Amino acid sequence: MENEYRRDIKSLTLSQLKEEMEALGEKSFRARQLYEWMHVKLAERYEEMSNIPHKLLDQCRERYTYTVLKKIRMQESKLDGTRKYLFELADGNTVESVWMRYKHGNSVCISSQVGCRMGCRFCASTLDGLERNLLPSEMLEQIYAITRHTGERVSNVVVMGTGEPMDNFDNLLQFITLLTDENGLHISQRNITVSTCGIVPRMYQLADRHLQITLALSLHAATNEKRRELMPVADRYSLEELMEVCACYFEQTGRRITFEYSLVKDVNDTIEDAEQLIRLIKGLNCHVNLIPVNPIKERDYIQSERRAVEQFKEYLEKNGINATVRREMGRDIDGACGQLRRRHSNEIDKVADISEKSI
Ligand code: SAH
Repeated sequence: MENEYRRDIKSLTLSQLKEEMEALGEKSFRARQLYEWMHVKLAERYEEMSNIPHKLLDQCRERYTYTVLKKIRMQESKLDGTRKYLFELADGNTVESVWMRYKHGNSVCISSQVGCRMGCRFCASTLDGLERNLLPSEMLEQIYAITRHTGERVSNVVVMGTGEPMDNFDNLLQFITLLTDENGLHISQRNITVSTCGIVPRMYQLADRHLQITLALSLHAATNEKRRELMPVADRYSLEELMEVCACYFEQTGRRITFEYSLVKDVNDTIEDAEQLIRLIKGLNCHVNLIPVNPIKERDYIQSERRAVEQFKEYLEKNGINATVRREMGRDIDGACGQLRRRHSNEIDKVADISEKSI
């Protein structure tokens, strides 16, 4: 195993951990015990692992890093109970995650990278570029830390926070393997959604894995020209290529594609835009998720009016396309992706001591 996470114990699958234990001359049931402490009991430190001999724990301390996230902020919406968490990683970087409570269970939205290099114009996460990829354990820990804090099980995971998951592909796949493992949290593949801005070769690679996860594509425009104005990645991959890979994903997996479409006033929210969208995606087994754009102060995109959103949705439905308007959870708590993290780091720049605001 020459992966970058080789020495990160929480990023190892059970069989990889068994190999490690064998190399240490340990019985394989020790791997199982360690794995259970990490991925079922969600232990925060080796000291909790009461059935593991001290000698082995010392060896683990020496050989591996043990990833835990430190909660440094939490905001809770007074409107719907949605919580936004800001976590600190071992190297001092921060990531944000969102916890939402729905009737059918709790959902967590996680980040896949520190920052992002995709440059989508309306998105706060990409304003400072990419800092680094997250390890599988750092993605998992966002869910584990929230589970520990809320005391409630998470049943749905969406990889829709900061970062482009297809730009951190190997770690994403390892994360999904760990998250769905029956020896761990055992979250069903069907309850996982991965959202991408559309990196075509990676989407083919994902399709080849035949996973049962939902693939969401951030479309946001129905012509190449308009999409290029909003998303630099559209210079690399055309809508025609994207539609082909989406059809392939459905063929390989049987999973309906989700298209995300953020509605920006006077940019992509007219009936003509809806018409073009219908022409583009008609015939594909898909679902459109309309998101009224969440304005960020660094850009002057304005949210579409309620009426325009409704008309857009009705027009799609009249033409046989399944569409929903995303409920705006946590409107009152730095809603848009990357905003809490940005605000936090701006404040650190201004005042050295933020401890009184921390939790
Ligand atoms: N990089 C991935 C996942 C992260 S973003 C992707 O591009 O899909 C999750 C979704 O939120 C994407 O559809 C993204 O385009 C959208 N998004 C980002 N900033 C937004 C904003 N300010 N308002 C509305 N949607 C936004």
